[in-house]
Formats: sequence, structure tokens, C-alpha cells
Amino acid sequence: MSGLRGIPEPTLSAEQRRLIADTLAERGALGACPACHENSWVIGHGHSLLTMGTDEGEGVGLPTVSRICANCGYISLHATAILGL
Ligand SMILES: [Zn+2]
Repeated sequence: MSGLRGIPEPTLSAEQRRLIADTLAERGALGACPACHENSWVIGHGHSLLTMGTDEGEGVGLPTVSRICANCGYISLHATAILGL
């Protein structure tokens, strides 16, 4: 199964994704995509884990949520701990 342009089906609920979008907006994370300058963001459908180095084991890293440009696919990652999510 696939969602928007091949993005997998959501593991985050619509409510969780709305909370992420609202939190980013409240923090001023608004504006156009830095790559294509369109403003057509979608919240990624799941959490991501940003690994920080080769010495880290599986499942270790920085938990993030993503905001994806629906036009060019540019991905903006945001640390869940900073957002309080
Ligand atoms: Zn873009």
C-alpha cells in the first residue's frame, strides 16, 4: 500500500499529525520549502530515528518527526524531544 506519491501509509494518527503541524506552526516553523520555494508541506506518516554515528546500535538515535514538501520531496526533520511530543 502507498499513500501520497509513494509515502507509506500512516503509523501516526491524523490527530497526532495535526498536533505535530500545530506545534511546528506555534514555534514559527512556517514558510516555503527551501529547495523549491513551494509551500505545500505534509507531515510524515511516522516517526523517524536519525542515527548519529556508526558506533550506535540498532534502535539508537535521535527520534524525529518529518515534514515533507509535497512538490519536490524535500524533508525537514524535527526532534520530538524539543517539540515535547
Ligand atoms: Zn519543495
